[in-house]
Amino acid sequence: EFINSLPPLNAADLSILKTTTPKGLHPPEELKFGHTFTDHMLSIEWTSTSGWLAPRITPYQNLSLDPATCVFHYGFECFEGMKAYRAVDGSVRLFRPDKNMARFNNSAQRIALPTFDGQQLIELIKKLVRLDERFIPNARGFSLYLRPTLIGTQRTLGVGPPGSALLYVICSPVGPYYPTGFKAVCLEATTAFVRAWPGGAGDKKIGANYTPCIVPQVDAASRGFHQNLWVFGEDEHPTEAGTMNFFVVLKDKSGQMELATPPLDGTILPGVTRDSVLHLARTRLQGWKVSERYTPLAELAEAAEDGRLVEAFGAGTAAVVSPIRRINWHGKDIFCGLKAGEEAGETALKMQQWIMGIQYGDEPHEWSVKI
Ligand code: PMP
Repeated sequence: EFINSLPPLNAADLSILKTTTPKGLHPPEELKFGHTFTDHMLSIEWTSTSGWLAPRITPYQNLSLDPATCVFHYGFECFEGMKAYRAVDGSVRLFRPDKNMARFNNSAQRIALPTFDGQQLIELIKKLVRLDERFIPNARGFSLYLRPTLIGTQRTLGVGPPGSALLYVICSPVGPYYPTGFKAVCLEATTAFVRAWPGGAGDKKIGANYTPCIVPQVDAASRGFHQNLWVFGEDEHPTEAGTMNFFVVLKDKSGQMELATPPLDGTILPGVTRDSVLHLARTRLQGWKVSERYTPLAELAEAAEDGRLVEAFGAGTAAVVSPIRRINWHGKDIFCGLKAGEEAGETALKMQQWIMGIQYGDEPHEWSVKI
């Protein structure tokens, strides 16, 4: 109640200081994910005594933080990943930003950082994107990746809720994930480590969930795999494909088609793309069963043997969908329905077309929000 009486985040208090040294634009085909940033950033400070202070857009710049700042010691950090797209009509749009705001707040709350009115942050993000709009290449598959970040900034080694925080948003122009069309990936099921567990924080987008995933990913890469597949439980059911949600298409013995993804049981990041794929499947794939259920690797191996594992793919903001060719599980290959030379299954292709069609404004849809 005390927190609620503090000043809330208010987009109307925004001040803007424009850069006097605008950056040059890189040729779109040279863009490398997350390597170049736009001219400006949005920053909003919070303190436990004053609430949210006035938002500021300034030139993109370094942060200056005391070495004792709590973010450096205990990982008080959460973030979001979303994109701004230049639509066919020239307008710039966000995709379901309310979903990112809800997830951002859930992450913040779990690590004792302040929450905020998501609609106010969307308004501020729109202003930032409008200011740096020239960085969005006008070509299909290109976009401006937005990275809202929230860190604890209290200068203390004491372990406790931070008394101050900084929310900032930076923007990075990005190219298509698959510049030359889909390339199906090969995954290694990771059995030596787990990413998340019941009662943990695996469903939150906190930096602390990502650092422990690098070594297993590097291990998988050293054995020739594009990514690792996270599994959990005695039944070794897939949870996430690297940093994407995991989907399979199965056909049962009677020929019934099923799209399945693991349920949001606390070990899965609630992906915006995941939710979109499920919604589109439920409304557009006539006669299909759409399930949020575990699909143990033994079940997938058996289905693959019987020719009933039709497809597997990852889903996330970066690629929309990423078709999976093969899963290596305890040294044994599970082939995921693609024919030799085929890079994507029908369902993955359809989902990508439907979702990009909405993101780039081919299809008017309430998910696509003009800035
Ligand atoms: N799982 C993890 C672990 C992720 O980091 C992401 C990317 N945010 C996703 C799934 C996909 O989520 P979204 O569709 O919201 O990008």
